[in-house]
Amino acid sequence: MKEQQIFIGGVWRCGGGAPMQSIFPADGSVNATLNAASLSDLEEAVASGERAWRNPGWRNMLPHQRAQILHRVADLIEARLDELAQLQSRDNGKPLAETRGLVMSAAGTARYFAAACELLEGELPTPRQPHLLTFSRYEPLGVVAAITPWNSPIASEMQKVAPAIAAGNAVILKPAEATPLMALELARLFEQAGLPAGLLSVLPGKGSIIGDALARHPQVRKISFTGGTVTGRYLAHVAAEKLIPASLELGGKSPTIVLEDADIELAARGICYGIFSSGGQACIAGSRLFIQQQVYPVLMARLLELTRALRIGHPFAAGTHIGPLISAQHRQSVMEYVQLAQREGGTLLCGGEIPADPTLAAGSYFQPTIIEGLNNQTRVCQEEIFGPVLVAMPFSDEADLIRQANDSIYGLAAGIWTRDTGRALRLSEQLEAGTVWINTYKVFSVSTPFGGFKQSGLGREKGIQGLKAWMQQKSIYLATGNGMNHWCD
Ligand code: ADP
Repeated sequence: MKEQQIFIGGVWRCGGGAPMQSIFPADGSVNATLNAASLSDLEEAVASGERAWRNPGWRNMLPHQRAQILHRVADLIEARLDELAQLQSRDNGKPLAETRGLVMSAAGTARYFAAACELLEGELPTPRQPHLLTFSRYEPLGVVAAITPWNSPIASEMQKVAPAIAAGNAVILKPAEATPLMALELARLFEQAGLPAGLLSVLPGKGSIIGDALARHPQVRKISFTGGTVTGRYLAHVAAEKLIPASLELGGKSPTIVLEDADIELAARGICYGIFSSGGQACIAGSRLFIQQQVYPVLMARLLELTRALRIGHPFAAGTHIGPLISAQHRQSVMEYVQLAQREGGTLLCGGEIPADPTLAAGSYFQPTIIEGLNNQTRVCQEEIFGPVLVAMPFSDEADLIRQANDSIYGLAAGIWTRDTGRALRLSEQLEAGTVWINTYKVFSVSTPFGGFKQSGLGREKGIQGLKAWMQQKSIYLATGNGMNHWCD
């Protein structure tokens, strides 16, 4: 167990706030103890961020030099892949195979925004008047806030920090209470890669204290948040009061649709991965399954077979599919949803319990669970559970399917399984979701915008647009002729 320092304005030191711990969800042991950031730590981080982003050495740094820092971060991540994956697994209990993928994706994100920063172009519109040249350039916002959840820290943190830095801002990162270690390690990587001091500070601590103060700070010019819809709505109010942009990546209750002509094996495996990987602790988890009546029995039989064979185990054990949930408290909330499903008339087809294996007793493990017999109006189908719980529902009529799939406050993602691509594309146009996967699920490309419809969020991350979202445009008018103004003649 080590005493962890935090990173403020380029300096490693003990936080001035309350003591906190990072706990390994597999056995409840303490990974590290640390002190949260205090409000005066926040002031220091903002002040040094202000100095750092305004410094001409940074403002005038050539794009390829800025890109080089991000490439070096990616190099360091790739060189330390296993170690970083272990750290991430210790912080949140995800199996190593998954955290390795997340670590690699973080390196890819750093490289993408390195390239994007070199390719960024201003705009040169054709002016509507003669003797004028107008152009629009992108400038950084200043000191910006990134607030992240515990489920995929390295990926979600890089998704914010890399474009924010590429855009020329100073970032203050507030990681989730449960997972401070990865964010702090990320700061170390940026420091080693040569990022000037003050451009990145990491302030662990409670959302309601340090996260709130960060978002409200008058000098913070953007809030980029990934987390629950309730907190997201609150932060949208904070941003509205300050009139600053807010990018919100929130919850989901994503429908997965199996049409009668689907490749059953492909669909069953994709659905299994879409809901049960990460123990269902993913905003994009495909938690509502709509199956066309004709293939309901065959699809369900295969899905149950695959689910029952999933290996629940220690995050570091080879072949583990499902590690522990983030905490015993979170597992309790998932279990209560399973009990609610039964009270709402659902039938438990598999899972629903804490695994009996005594070697898993110290961790917050939970079995992958499939329920049928509920309708889409039930609470279990409307509320985000954020755990390994899937509800299967048959459908016969396509119009009814679309109505039910869209009958949700959320609109993050959807999946369609069919051999009829034209039909899939037509359906995809009718689904209210920021991402639609066809014959695949939960795969990502950093060049493709990601974000939610409805209460799943505001704004998009990734892609070139994901870089511009950390900038503001300045339009410049240059008179190219003798544009004497005769108004005061
Ligand atoms: P989750 O359910 O994923 O924990 P939260 O929305 O509670 O979702 O948390 C996501 C992130 O938001 C965490 O870093 C958390 O500390 C932070 N957070 C929670 N409440 C606030 C708040 N009032 N202001 C700013 N950040 C907050």
